[in-house]
Amino acid sequence: MNERPVVRLTREGQVAVVTIDNPPVNPITADVRAGLRDALTALHSMAGINALLLRCDGNTFCSGADIGEFNGPPKEAEYRKLFGDIERLAFPVVCALHGTVLGGGLEIALACHYRVAAPGTRCGFPEVTLGIIPGAGGTQRLPRLIGVEQTLELILGARPVDVSQAAELGFVDAVLDGDLEAAALAYTEGLLSANKGPRPTNARDVDRDTASDEIMDRLQKLARERYPNRQAPVTAIEAVSASARLPFDQGLLLEDKLVNLAKQTAESRGAIHVFFAERECRRVPGLPDDAQAIEIRNAGIIGAGTMGGGIAICFANAGIPVTVLDIDEEALERGLGVVDGTLESRVKRGRMSAEAKAQRMSLITGTTNYADLADVDIVIEAATENMNLKKQIFGKLEEITEPGTLLATNTSTLDIDELASAIARRQDVIGMHFFSPANVMPLLEVIRTKSTSATAIRTAMALAKPLRKTPVLAGVCYGFIGNRMMEGYAREAELMTLEGATPHQVDSALEAWGMAMGILAVFDMAGVDVGVHVHRDNAHLYPPDPTYYQADFALFEAGRLGQKNGKGYYRYEPGDRRRHDDAESIKILRGTAARLGVQQRDHTEQKIVERCLYPLMNEGFRILEEGIAIRASDIDVVWTSGYGFPRYRGGPMFYAETIGLKTLLDGMLRYREAFGPTHWEPAKLLVELAEKDRSLAEWEAAGGLAT
Ligand code: NAD
Repeated sequence: MNERPVVRLTREGQVAVVTIDNPPVNPITADVRAGLRDALTALHSMAGINALLLRCDGNTFCSGADIGEFNGPPKEAEYRKLFGDIERLAFPVVCALHGTVLGGGLEIALACHYRVAAPGTRCGFPEVTLGIIPGAGGTQRLPRLIGVEQTLELILGARPVDVSQAAELGFVDAVLDGDLEAAALAYTEGLLSANKGPRPTNARDVDRDTASDEIMDRLQKLARERYPNRQAPVTAIEAVSASARLPFDQGLLLEDKLVNLAKQTAESRGAIHVFFAERECRRVPGLPDDAQAIEIRNAGIIGAGTMGGGIAICFANAGIPVTVLDIDEEALERGLGVVDGTLESRVKRGRMSAEAKAQRMSLITGTTNYADLADVDIVIEAATENMNLKKQIFGKLEEITEPGTLLATNTSTLDIDELASAIARRQDVIGMHFFSPANVMPLLEVIRTKSTSATAIRTAMALAKPLRKTPVLAGVCYGFIGNRMMEGYAREAELMTLEGATPHQVDSALEAWGMAMGILAVFDMAGVDVGVHVHRDNAHLYPPDPTYYQADFALFEAGRLGQKNGKGYYRYEPGDRRRHDDAESIKILRGTAARLGVQQRDHTEQKIVERCLYPLMNEGFRILEEGIAIRASDIDVVWTSGYGFPRYRGGPMFYAETIGLKTLLDGMLRYREAFGPTHWEPAKLLVELAEKDRSLAEWEAAGGLAT
């Protein structure tokens, strides 16, 4: 075997060049660390070397530590020793940065004596979003270069900054145009000509003025406000501020202790779980190997409305030409006008160049003629939600497209098995459920019917990548994974407003717990009428309950449609999305409750959260026992990427295990006692696992459904 080494040591005159070549993103894996150690040893026997240049091949300098090691034994001591050995070299050590330099990648750069970078390089510490802190010297070295305040701004910001900002802050010495390797070599030789010696970061002092009480108070406040319920940002403050007090080596030991404590918090376990779940969800077990994804070179979309337009933008962003069909020129023009406006607003906000917008628009073509869709590789139907209409559309699509062309529907509520049964090419029919706004929301539920072919499943799952979506595979059922679980969650939130809680009380409890937005505020945003229509159309699917959805119905009947007409659960000022409590809506809710004889109750924050989340999680167990989702972590991805469930709580199924399945089961039984069995029957799988004290992971490892 003649494998390419992941680390190479070469020389250019007096300069030793260490190159990391670990595609695709040069993570600092065990191989890379071993290669670097070998290179450092080999250096000692090379005569006439007076400087070292550390660089990477490929698209980026080291993008970070090895994520595969996240859940393994601690590696900080090994990193500390290796980076310390680099820093202790007795001649200048320069590193050349390009691409996206994150976490451990930035930490190795900080252990070098000089840092140069290509224009466009981005550097950052995203650790707090994973519930941890930089653990390979970052909290002690960066403040020695740019001070405590700016280090914490970077860590709490969690987003990479452009190299121009890094240079301004002072942790990149030069931004070099042209060929980076040649320019970095010239820079290194320039240091030697100028007789510059080593410049170890650890030998510098931290500017204590950057850690004044006032600054630290401000940062503490920022951490609490930006990261409610989370510990990692506060831990980062503790580690970084220690750099101003402690000698370097002691600071490193404190960092080590703190990062290892951070790794054990529920917050980091939850966030890291979601991080891995988002990779795992793309893998579909059980499909034959010979069923490969087909390449999607062009696409068609039926319906130029809210969803069709957003999906068209996704394709254009991916560089895939797309033809959008609507019933007539007027509908088409209106739809494409909205698409143009959406992109234009990105240009206005400086998020997209005018050229990029023009290029995107050139990939989107409108038509009213089905013949224009004859040669596409996939059609996504996003027309008005109506079974008969969709059956007719699929009939036409079957006529004009070649067998094997994917026929996808974006339906939210219709039975896709029934839709597929209307045509002969059932194997080509699949659900691709985008979320609104489709060009922004990362989640894509891919729905397989009884007859969807393995090729169609693989194609839809693979297409998520260029469309920049996180795909989760689901089976056919009402609401698929996300909306089906939403039903109980929203039902309880609404019901509590009839029981005497104010909309604000309900939403603020959910938000304090961590949901991105309270569900009643979400209804106002989406339109109270939208939910009412869906519930009217599907009333036969719900158990008999005279209070069911009555808050929404009452507000709708009173003409309160949400943000669009300035009043729903809340009141809104014109042109302002901020919500205000509204005596009129509360009066309507109270009146409805009196009419229906709804018992008035007290609602603590904890009760509100329990009543919303317990049915949500319980439904997740049903979805698993029915095989609608293929794994529990997929459900977590649906809720964290599509419904604002906090990543640091790991998603609903992870959270169920955090509180304990027994606690969830006891809660369900307690509420069944109080409210009756209509909505509070615990899922069989929950009962089984809680009673046997088994985890979801154990159930899945034993074959899940098969057991
Ligand atoms: P919309 O009303 O904004 O757009 C529907 C479009 O379909 C309109 O432009 C209409 O002219 C067009 N249309 C109607 N009949 C047609 C026909 N026979 N042939 C071609 N075009 C036709 O609706 P929307 O919100 O974009 O929803 C579209 C689909 O996406 C629905 O199935 C809906 O359930 C689903 N969906 C909507 C959302 C959402 O939040 N809006 C989210 C996920 C899925």
